[in-house]
Amino acid sequence: MEIESMVANSALIKAREGGSRGRSYKWKEMLRLNHISQCMDQASSIEREYYSLCVKQPIGKNLFQLFCRSRPDLQNFISLLDALDAFEMKSDEERKDFGVSIIERFLMRKSMQCVYVVQKHEQSCIHSLEVDSCTDVFQSCRERPITKYRFRQYRVLGKGGFGEVWACQVRATGMMYACKKLDKTHVKKRRGEAMALNEKQILEALDSRFVVSLGYAYETKHSLCMVLTMMSGGDLRFHIHNIGQPGLDKNRVRFYAAEVCCGIMHLHRKSIVYRDMKPENILLDDNGHIRISDLGLAVRLSEGSLVRGKVGTAGYMAPEVIGHKHYGLSVDWWGLGCLIYEMTAGKPPLRQKGEHPKAAEMERRIQNEPLEFGEKFGKSVKNLCSSLLNKDPNERLGCLASGGKDVQDHRFFRKVNFRMLEAGLVEPPFKPDPRLVYCSDVQDIDEFSTVKGVTLGETDCEFYCKFNTGSVSINWQNEVIETGCFKELNVFGPEGSRSSDLDW
Ligand code: ADP
Ligand code: MG
Ligand code: MG
Repeated sequence: MEIESMVANSALIKAREGGSRGRSYKWKEMLRLNHISQCMDQASSIEREYYSLCVKQPIGKNLFQLFCRSRPDLQNFISLLDALDAFEMKSDEERKDFGVSIIERFLMRKSMQCVYVVQKHEQSCIHSLEVDSCTDVFQSCRERPITKYRFRQYRVLGKGGFGEVWACQVRATGMMYACKKLDKTHVKKRRGEAMALNEKQILEALDSRFVVSLGYAYETKHSLCMVLTMMSGGDLRFHIHNIGQPGLDKNRVRFYAAEVCCGIMHLHRKSIVYRDMKPENILLDDNGHIRISDLGLAVRLSEGSLVRGKVGTAGYMAPEVIGHKHYGLSVDWWGLGCLIYEMTAGKPPLRQKGEHPKAAEMERRIQNEPLEFGEKFGKSVKNLCSSLLNKDPNERLGCLASGGKDVQDHRFFRKVNFRMLEAGLVEPPFKPDPRLVYCSDVQDIDEFSTVKGVTLGETDCEFYCKFNTGSVSINWQNEVIETGCFKELNVFGPEGSRSSDLDW
């Protein structure tokens, strides 16, 4: 062997022996950490996300464990985490017995080592262990729950079927949200569990600028909470009926209709039927863009299948819904027809202003009566409405082979660039006044109280655990970016100083 080659090999072999001998004699200087006193301001400004900081990041995890061991009240928690790590190392045969011992030690109230913050997961952990001990049985015990303390609460914004919606703000980032609270006793009394879970699960699977997003789902003692995109511009019902003459000008009708159309198409691409299109459910943000909200009635179609069920709001239901037929995405195009009609006419289709016909009469009209268009309807909007409000879903615009594309191609939308619209690059024709609050006065929104005589038990907790899944990752990341926190935190100058110190 050449001498050169021998030298090269032995150098490599020596380096591979590793250990501290491979370190530069200057290593401490190279890795010098700032003195703790220089980092104090970071303690107040970084988002202290438990999972990332104390579980995923190896040094974070180490420091967190050291900290916990120094505090007697946290000893049990850290022992639990150790046990959970050990659980992961067990063979398939050992998992069940070991799992049971974890439950007995840490999740049972009577145990000296009970960890109360995760105690509520006892039943669901026992259950998963029974069903299949090879799954991630204790996942729920590792997460730090989101609680109401993450948020500042402001005024009530509105009232729904199961509770109130409140304006709130994330303390760490300053981001504003609307918190939709579902009162646990009301949900139980009216058997709303499936509906609540459905709304939450559909929302968390969506990511569209035309549908409200779910930022967090958590629980308090009395409520289940969905933290949603804040929409401070009010709903379209308010804008159509409560400001000036009823109805909206053509530019606004076109803009809102186009954005709603994109929202519907997003839902339909995921096989979700919305089923509750009406002006009240279309909300404006502070720039004047709309989002579809209130997905309580939305349903996911399994492949190629249709659904049945008379759901929606009287007066806005499609003929095939009223007729107890099987139906699919078609009902939302009918809904868009109703919306465009009402924005243009200043009144809903097939109803006179101020008239409140009984549900049965409304259904008769929807199924049998032809539509009337007043003088407010131009040629193209009239044509669009009658194509969308076609009583036969097989012939309705939007329900043919090219789906929503046909709606976008209608001449009413010829001035709309849908690509730009999808990218959020079209300026809204109306911007809500930032000094106004576009909702009813606080004293006019009735208070929601708990129902008496309903007790919440262990089966309820199982449902709460499914609901209460904390932050939705994509939306949390958007929050940190949108509020500028990411930009300010993710800049490092020499020796760990921050951009603000150096004015880069
Ligand atoms: P429900 O499903 O019980 O009808 P909604 O989701 O419609 O509840 O919410 C009730 C009311 O709360 C709405 O009519 C609206 O006034 C207000 N609201 C709901 N979501 C938001 C939001 N994201 N931003 C602002 N206000 C909202
Ligand atoms: Mg509603
Ligand atoms: Mg609802």
